Amino acid sequence: MARPLDALVVGAGPTGLTLAGELARRGLTVRIVDKALEPPSDHSRALAVQARTLELFSMMGIADAAMEHGMRVMGLNVLLPRGRRARLPLLSFPELSTPIPGLFVIQQLDTEEVLASRLPRLGVTLERGVELASSSQDSAGVTCSLRHADGELEEVRSSWLLGCDGAHSAVRKGAGIPFEGDTYDDHCMLGDLVVDWQLPDGEIYISPSPRGIAAAFPVPGRRRFRIVLILPEAPPVRNAAVSLAEFESTMRAIIPVPFQIEQAIVLSRYRLHHRVAARLRSGRVLLAGDAAHIHSPAGGQGMNTGIQDAFNLAWKLAAVQQGRMPAWLLDTYEQERLPVARRLVDFTDRLFGFLAGHGPLSHTLRVLAPRLAIRAFGLAPVQRRILGFVSQLKIRYRKSPLSVQLGTPPARGPRAGDRAPDVALRGGAGEEVHLFELLRDPEPVLLLFAGPRADGASGERARSLAARLAGPDLKVVVLGATEAGGYADPDGRAHATYGVETTAAVLVRPDGYIGVRSDPIDEGELGRALDRLFTRRTGAART
Ligand SMILES: Cc1cc2nc3c(=O)[nH]c(=O)nc-3n(C[C@H](O)[C@H](O)[C@H](O)COP(=O)(O)OP(=O)(O)OC[C@H]3O[C@@H](n4cnc5c(N)ncnc54)[C@H](O)[C@@H]3O)c2cc1C
Repeated sequence: MARPLDALVVGAGPTGLTLAGELARRGLTVRIVDKALEPPSDHSRALAVQARTLELFSMMGIADAAMEHGMRVMGLNVLLPRGRRARLPLLSFPELSTPIPGLFVIQQLDTEEVLASRLPRLGVTLERGVELASSSQDSAGVTCSLRHADGELEEVRSSWLLGCDGAHSAVRKGAGIPFEGDTYDDHCMLGDLVVDWQLPDGEIYISPSPRGIAAAFPVPGRRRFRIVLILPEAPPVRNAAVSLAEFESTMRAIIPVPFQIEQAIVLSRYRLHHRVAARLRSGRVLLAGDAAHIHSPAGGQGMNTGIQDAFNLAWKLAAVQQGRMPAWLLDTYEQERLPVARRLVDFTDRLFGFLAGHGPLSHTLRVLAPRLAIRAFGLAPVQRRILGFVSQLKIRYRKSPLSVQLGTPPARGPRAGDRAPDVALRGGAGEEVHLFELLRDPEPVLLLFAGPRADGASGERARSLAARLAGPDLKVVVLGATEAGGYADPDGRAHATYGVETTAAVLVRPDGYIGVRSDPIDEGELGRALDRLFTRRTGAART
């Protein structure tokens, strides 16, 4: 007899594909349906894949496959008159401690193909031409009506219904969750072009000007760029097709460098919306991705945010559905991700309200922006802030009920609720091992820092503590002592990156965030926090 369905994922965009794969990896029975008969073939959606997303792809084992489709972006430039540029290098911040620094451009259809290609290995079939027609829930599950391409209706019962069905989400509407926000006044044109100009490939160019803002993103291929023009004035005819002549003359009025458009692959026009769902959960229905938040695509954040939603949700839903964790764990999905979505939409809202608006203040700002950029981009703290935000490496959940600091918070280094940074370690045979390689399991991992100058005795203490704490749902890794499966920290970099002065225990959640942190290690308090927040520690030790 077929196992009952744990989760029905509606929508096979990047969010739904990530969620279906991550749930299946954790042992849930999953169906994923999409009303489109074919995978998307348009080249006009997400390009920017941020460092945090590549970290998640690495945990999913698909980072190399994704990067094969793309190219690394080396710098972000603001164009100034007379051929000058203010340049922000994108690779120069080792303190972000990521194995894949910078930003990649990968066409969304390629990202989706890579995400979809792992599903068969996980036992999931992507069902195309299947649309969610309606749904109703009770305390035990959700009954859904699916319309197949031939018009046939199928009734499906699932424990959870997951709405990854984009901005017009039928799941969100069916659950009665308001989508609060508005549509911007300004208008955008998008061109996927082959451009002949003196600007090097592989860089992003932004040009604020009194006539509007232009942003040029490199696309894999020689001299190929995605150019977005954000205009304060509406076109005379709404939704009119964009001609090459109109695009070229508008671009010439904004971009202060000579250019020739050699080929226009796509030209389109769209308006910007900024909306956030009032809730991410209604009983057994949850929302993720564009179904929950939409905003200007210019910052390259939307798809990346949806993928992170899915990663945050998957381990929690699996733990609750499998009875390993109480139901309240699922509430932390909204507690953590809704503020992230709201901040992102507020930020893009304010940025575009100021920069792309049609009032005199916005006009002045567009005139001054290039000169401001040349000063700001030269300042390391500004560079760090921009990169931390854009890369999504600085997203954190410090106020989450899952983030618990025991003892004294570190003066430097990540706190409970922050992303766990990567560091290079040494295995027992002297081989280099990246911490992230140890975090790929679908369970939480407890890092025990034996001390920056750990000797045999402190290493032994850490090892025996590891044996007492480990269980079937908790892997424990000792850092600073190589014997018995631990990892050396020869130059103390791991201890320094994590701000550990004596000893510390750091619980890394399955989505790579720090849950509990104990500085120094207090075994009693730590054990109680782990039991309460993360795992049963019964059964055979697993170190
Ligand atoms: C011009 C442009 C540029 C962008 N650039 C970037 C960028 O550089 N970086 C970035 O991060 N983001 C970018 N974005 C945003 C990004 O494209 C979206 O955030 C992303 O597609 C959201 O993914 P999703 O899976 O949540 O939703 P979607 O991609 O919208 O997928 C939803 C899926 O649900 C299916 N569906 C809908 N209703 C139903 C139903 N009733 N039943 C079954 N299936 C259904 C649809 O067919 C669709 O396949 C850009 C967007 C645009 C428009």
